[in-house]
Amino acid sequence: MPSEFEIIRKYFSRPARRALLGVGDDAALLMPEPGAALAVSTDMLLEGRHFAKGAAPRALGHKALAVNLSDMAATGATPRWATLAIALPAADEAWIAAFAEGFYALAERFEVDLVGGDTTRGALTICVAILGEVPAGLAHTRGGARPGDDIWVSGELGGAALALERPGIAAAAQRLHQPEPRVELGERLRGIASAAIDVSDGFAQDLGHILERSGVGALVHYALLPKFPCDERQLQQRCVLAGGDDYELVFTAPQSARKEIDALSGALRLALTRVGSIQPGEAKLQLLDALGKPMAAGRGFDHFA
Ligand code: ADP
Ligand code: MG
Repeated sequence: MPSEFEIIRKYFSRPARRALLGVGDDAALLMPEPGAALAVSTDMLLEGRHFAKGAAPRALGHKALAVNLSDMAATGATPRWATLAIALPAADEAWIAAFAEGFYALAERFEVDLVGGDTTRGALTICVAILGEVPAGLAHTRGGARPGDDIWVSGELGGAALALERPGIAAAAQRLHQPEPRVELGERLRGIASAAIDVSDGFAQDLGHILERSGVGALVHYALLPKFPCDERQLQQRCVLAGGDDYELVFTAPQSARKEIDALSGALRLALTRVGSIQPGEAKLQLLDALGKPMAAGRGFDHFA
């Protein structure tokens, strides 16, 4: 069995391209570009809570980084560096090698350096911290939505949640286990979006966070929501409105930006769909069905509910 230090050296020590000092010292040394704000975020994945026992290690390595990249996307930051704190029940080299493969494949695609971490024995737990750069003043927050703004959604909603109920649908499983963080969209929306969030806990709940932080309401037409295909209407509705783990972006933008956002959709080959508008008044989501009747949005994910 390899020691802790052999694991780090063998699997988690690829050279950093952008760090003054990476893995191997007591601290990494990073140099953000002048004028850039440092965007920092952490996400934790626990066996039995965020993924099932026996989950494929390569997909897990991908997802552990992807969910963090998605937070950079929502912020409009360019991801640069990550740290990885991992508790492993055993030094299973085949498992660790596959996990590292999944992690680095995504890291290299987005030119993110793994610059440090911690490795310990324990119940399988993965905690990634990500650091990114965004020109100060151009970061998206949840608090910038204004009455009259359009509400937009990237990609399709509900695929990841559908995979939990219908494990046989390969395209849905892909959405759940190998989510694609919308990093480039986040960057290109700088100066265009007024607010943004990534869908980790369900569309209605995550849009709700924008409404609360911005002190505005919203009107959304269910028929307009981009939906992952599903024959069962009730199930689809639940997955689209309250399903988590899609990691699409929900963002708001002034109506004057419509042409620009449509062009961006073409350039990125990513569906960007206008689903409703921001309203004055209390932080409430009014959801209408195809006949214009009010609909219940259901509850999103809450670890303590
Ligand atoms: P320390 O005891 O000073 O915290 P460690 O022995 O825990 O140092 O780690 C040695 C080096 O390896 C440090 O640079 C640390 O950041 C890095 N490291 C440890 N675990 C990981 C990991 N899973 N991924 C990347 N780097 C790691
Ligand atoms: Mg340590």
